[in-house]
Amino acid sequence: MKKTTSTLFLSLAAVGFAFAQVEPAKQTPQSSEIWEPVPPIVTPGVFLANTAGTTAPSDAIVLFDGKNVDAWVANKGYNPTASTDPLQWIVRDGVLYSGKTSSAMTKQQFGDMQLHLEFQTPEKVEGNGQGRGNSGVFIQGRYEVQVLDNYNNPTYVNGMVGSIYKQAIPLANPSRKPGEWQSYDIIYTQPRFSKAGVMIDPAYVTVMLNGILVQNHVAIRCTTEYIGYPKMIAHGKGPIILQDHGNPVGFRNIWVREL
Ligand code: MG
Repeated sequence: MKKTTSTLFLSLAAVGFAFAQVEPAKQTPQSSEIWEPVPPIVTPGVFLANTAGTTAPSDAIVLFDGKNVDAWVANKGYNPTASTDPLQWIVRDGVLYSGKTSSAMTKQQFGDMQLHLEFQTPEKVEGNGQGRGNSGVFIQGRYEVQVLDNYNNPTYVNGMVGSIYKQAIPLANPSRKPGEWQSYDIIYTQPRFSKAGVMIDPAYVTVMLNGILVQNHVAIRCTTEYIGYPKMIAHGKGPIILQDHGNPVGFRNIWVREL
């Protein structure tokens, strides 16, 4: 009995000693402060609502600032190609209008990024469902964030504005009226693939439409397809493609911050 008590005492002493060894230094408010690395200073853009929208911040890659389409080429369809054809879309009064000849593809390829753009569906309402103010933002030329006039215009919900087309239903419909300017802010993490082409991590996307969260860190697993099942295709960086769907949709203030 005595031996057991002694053993227990020694054991407790050992435990106490062990705890004494890992006891952290006395904590202060400063102990949990992190001072480096200091995030870079970025001058935000200027918000001018329905006149000029939100101009680019100081560290952005400007893809369209109302003046020219130098950052773009024409592309047939919505999948990225090696096209160098000049874009035929019209720039009028600082707005880039989708044409009926091609989609618009950036010359530059992007991976992880923050993308901002503003769009305007036609004030004069024509068509319905998917035929009203349809365009789209194809991230990396593969995954469509739908652009559509969904103001009093029902359609299938996984194809409405704010959806990841045919893959993710938006959390809300904060559509403005036809002819009013609307904004997309998209945070995108590209998928990661092994050397053998196996997806290790899917793409993730968070989307704000007119400042309202419509996609919250949603995993995109495969390509956007109009018909049939999405495809899992390994890829690296890719362009941004703006869809021509036969409707004259206006765009302005298009910029990217690479992440
Ligand atoms: Mg579309």
